[in-house]
Amino acid sequence: MRQVRPATEGWKQKKDSEGRPLLQFASPKRGKPPVHLADLTPDERVAKVKELGIPGFRAKQLEKHYFSHWTHDPAAMTDLPAEGREEFVHGMLPALLTEVRRLETDRGDTIKFLWKLHDGALVESVLMRYPGRITLCVSSQAGCGMNCPFCATGQAGLTRNMSAAEIIEQIVRANRLIAEGGLGGKKRDDHSLERVSNIVFMGMGEPLANYARVMQAVRVMVDKEHGLGMSARGITVSTVGLVPAITKLAAEEIPVTFALSLHAPDDQLRDELIPVNSRWKVDEALDAARAYFDKTGRRVSIEYALIKDMNDHAWRADLLADKLNARGRGWVHVNPIPLNPTPGSIWTASEVPVQNEFVRRLNAAGIPTTLRDTRGKEIDGACGQLATTEDDEAAAALTPLEV
Ligand code: SF4
Repeated sequence: MRQVRPATEGWKQKKDSEGRPLLQFASPKRGKPPVHLADLTPDERVAKVKELGIPGFRAKQLEKHYFSHWTHDPAAMTDLPAEGREEFVHGMLPALLTEVRRLETDRGDTIKFLWKLHDGALVESVLMRYPGRITLCVSSQAGCGMNCPFCATGQAGLTRNMSAAEIIEQIVRANRLIAEGGLGGKKRDDHSLERVSNIVFMGMGEPLANYARVMQAVRVMVDKEHGLGMSARGITVSTVGLVPAITKLAAEEIPVTFALSLHAPDDQLRDELIPVNSRWKVDEALDAARAYFDKTGRRVSIEYALIKDMNDHAWRADLLADKLNARGRGWVHVNPIPLNPTPGSIWTASEVPVQNEFVRRLNAAGIPTTLRDTRGKEIDGACGQLATTEDDEAAAALTPLEV
């Protein structure tokens, strides 16, 4: 049986003093983005508005403009007094993201945005229309400290954590674009007001390594009175397996969907494939995932990118099924992710019969398993970036800006 071992292609992983792939949990000290309405709790917003010498109830008006009408434009906020309006609005809603590039695929119903942050760091989001839902894949960090050998984002390490408002702003900008008719694929006779319904934290960064800001963003997403009013179930928080943070997430009592990017059921392979596995092993990550189900009642997703001859062996499907079944029934489903074929790379698609056999074995063992829709997968591979180089057009367009 062929076993391809993970290795970087065209770059070198940074190593720690013991020669293991370097893991960066702390965000390097850099100038923080300006504080924005979405970084604050509702009470803090009122306090800040008052500090500016403006009556506290204006905070609520501003929330409505930003979270319901997706606008930052003072000219559109005619319910605010004209005098001092510009200053007030810019003070509470400072500019956070500058659009650098937009890339459309799938006939306009998938849009990839490249954003520049206030300090020049670049991040991306992807907007995708599916039947009955619109999903936005958001970034939570500029760069990433988890150093996965297949990942474009991980190569440069962690630039910095994104603020809650920088995460929220990705959604607000996408909603505005949708409202302006910028997302393709809408049926002609459909006049419904549309907006992003689903969020996946599968853009740049490991969301649970930026825990506090990601959770503030999630609170704003689900807040019906003071935020975007989205359904928690439509929000997927994924991780490569930061076990203490998974436990914390389970205790939040916000029933988001939780996804574990596992990609290998055995420590031998996963130690190389996902370096954070040296810290928390497969069994610990699965125990934490099961505990998430116990606490929230939400079925957990296991993400598994199928990579030819690396992790797609039938025995690995069986081992995965055994490990999941050992923790009970009905608590988990598996999403194998087919990759695009990448000739000459070790990070390439499994053969279709191999994929099918992998899925069949899991299903036969009683684990609900469905091959994931591959659309938008240029950034949707393994917590982000597994397939970045697969979309040649996107890679060509993005590379000069990313280096
Ligand atoms: S795959 Fe995810 S966790 Fe790993 S380096 Fe890339 S962004 Fe980070």
